[in-house]
Amino acid sequence: MKQAKLSELNFTSRNEAIAFLKRLWTEEGDNCPICGNKLEFLHTKAKKSNCDWQCKNYNKVFKTIHLLDEVNEEYK
Ligand SMILES: [Zn+2]
Repeated sequence: MKQAKLSELNFTSRNEAIAFLKRLWTEEGDNCPICGNKLEFLHTKAKKSNCDWQCKNYNKVFKTIHLLDEVNEEYK
């Protein structure tokens, strides 16, 4: 299963991307920004900000810590 990249997610602003990540960090969850399918929780590591979700429909893993790095790189 591949990692979802920020460039695939069609966010229009940093705020939108951060709001999405926050819903994953709170384990509230969200729909897949690519296909709209409900994301499934994979697992959480020691840090809350380091949790992963997946879209089974699109076969992608959403690694929040990785996406946050990409967000910070994209919207300086
Ligand atoms: Zn999807």
